[in-house]
Amino acid sequence: MCSVRRRTRFAPSPTGFMHIGNLRSALYAWLVAKSHDGDFILRIEDTDRERYVEGATELIYETLAECGLSHDEGPDVGGPCGPYVQSERLSHYRPFAEKLVEEGKAYRCFCTKERLENLAEARESGEGESSFGYDRHCRDLSPEEIQKNLDEGKPYVIRQKMPLEGETTYHDEVYGDITIANKELEDQILLKSDGFPTYNFANVIDDHEMGITHVVRGCEYLSSTPKYNLLYEAFGWEKPVYIHLPLILGTDGKKLSKRHGATSFADLHKEGYLTAAILNYIAFLGWAPGSDTREVFSLEELRGVFDEKHISKAPAVFDYQKLRWMNGEYLKALDDEAFADYIRPYTQAFYEGAELRPEAESMIAEILHSRIESGADLAGMLSFLKAPAEHGSDLYLNKKQKLTPALSRRVLEAVCQACSSLEQWDKSSIYDSLMGLKETLALKTGQVMGPPRLALSGQQVTPGGAVEIMTILGREESLARMQSEIEKLPEAEPEA
Ligand code: GLU
Repeated sequence: MCSVRRRTRFAPSPTGFMHIGNLRSALYAWLVAKSHDGDFILRIEDTDRERYVEGATELIYETLAECGLSHDEGPDVGGPCGPYVQSERLSHYRPFAEKLVEEGKAYRCFCTKERLENLAEARESGEGESSFGYDRHCRDLSPEEIQKNLDEGKPYVIRQKMPLEGETTYHDEVYGDITIANKELEDQILLKSDGFPTYNFANVIDDHEMGITHVVRGCEYLSSTPKYNLLYEAFGWEKPVYIHLPLILGTDGKKLSKRHGATSFADLHKEGYLTAAILNYIAFLGWAPGSDTREVFSLEELRGVFDEKHISKAPAVFDYQKLRWMNGEYLKALDDEAFADYIRPYTQAFYEGAELRPEAESMIAEILHSRIESGADLAGMLSFLKAPAEHGSDLYLNKKQKLTPALSRRVLEAVCQACSSLEQWDKSSIYDSLMGLKETLALKTGQVMGPPRLALSGQQVTPGGAVEIMTILGREESLARMQSEIEKLPEAEPEA
């Protein structure tokens, strides 16, 4: 087996969005193949026509391309095992289903929808003979009965004939040996009356025809896999290696859902998470690189260290705080230009399309670069730029810096005076001017820089200091804000 070139596949149904769990399946399938220089195949599983969503396939192509999970074969790139869209492979399935019928491993079921509905109702109310699934009514029809039904043109489905006794065991690389009693396996439908295969049938035929060596998918398929293996056995085909991936939970231990936050790639993106950070974070949802304690990995680095032996069966917890931290690391690592490009749409949205001076825009990028974990943080962090926060004069009390409201007023007066006559309103001119005041007023740096920063923002903590904030606000707004503060502050300290 080890000399066989690895072939994995990502087999999404075109549902219209790429859930985090799907993206993780794609990433792990890609890594299982690419860590061994194997092939990664994209197959679109669109046999469930009711769930089909227009444009969903394009979204899958776009997301995979955006994430760098390039596929070697697929509907858009072709390949020797095509077509790679199930609805275009319909002619492939019937002959296999008929072969099983001929060999007595499957049978035609003529049960009407009505009968099946009654059966389901009886089962729900506890009257049914069988506690689960189809009651195998057509399993032992005589050849005459079958022929009669066929002659009458009765529609039928083809069902798999499950063994009624014994057990089926298979090995999963993550979950170990899984055993299920055969009597618990429903005689599942392989081919529907409209000729469409069920997912349960199509995935086996396709995985075989496409030479898939490793099946990587979510653990919700663990319990169906014995049925797939019985099909492999019925055809005498070699079974693939199974790698089922653990559940993804929220931090409250419940299955990850929209209640926890964004659950699709597109929504995470919209919230300001970088593709590389999302991918890096998702790589850790159920896997860790052995003894390596690093957490920040590019896709290529993951490819170098990935080993499916380190996939854990314990449910993975999706922690948005951790993702935010990771995103912050990726944002810090961007060069200034890339960060400016990243933050621009958030800045524009903050100013609601109003024109912003280029130096203000680049200053915003400069003060946020090392401080934010997502562009979505911008609006909250910079809200004071729109209007200073509500505050009282005690904002200016700082024992350590020996700052008082009255001293602040004096400083603000001096700053306004010095800055109103500046020729250039830019970072270095403002800085020089404030540092000049420090000398003339014989104050400490904090005593000169503090008051304008507090006056302009109305808050104790700000990203960036007085010089940066003045640069962003511009001369007119800065002077107006400081002037209005001067009027509110006392000229002298009140008598103790
Ligand atoms: N079409 C299935 C899904 O989207 C794929 C399951 C598999 O990988 O076999 O869940």
